[in-house]
Amino acid sequence: MFLLFIISLPIIFYFICMELDRPVPPETSLSGECPGCSEKVESGWLVCQQCQAVLRETCPGCGKVHDSWVKYCPWCRNLNEASSV
Ligand SMILES: [Zn+2]
Ligand SMILES: [Zn+2]
Repeated sequence: MFLLFIISLPIIFYFICMELDRPVPPETSLSGECPGCSEKVESGWLVCQQCQAVLRETCPGCGKVHDSWVKYCPWCRNLNEASSV
């Protein structure tokens, strides 16, 4: 039993090292264009950093809040009228 512990120790240590060495996946944030000034905006932003246009919108189809610059609601595929103008 003790021998098993001794043998498994470096294996556990190896897996811990693997876990620590694992590269962090790049931030996959969705980005789009501000409907007000066409400046690059990122998903989740409440207002445009350039013109302070509100970038969050309540979907009339499902009631969820999504980015105002998306073409379709990500949850119910409702066409976002504001973005197609
Ligand atoms: Zn803007
Ligand atoms: Zn929706």
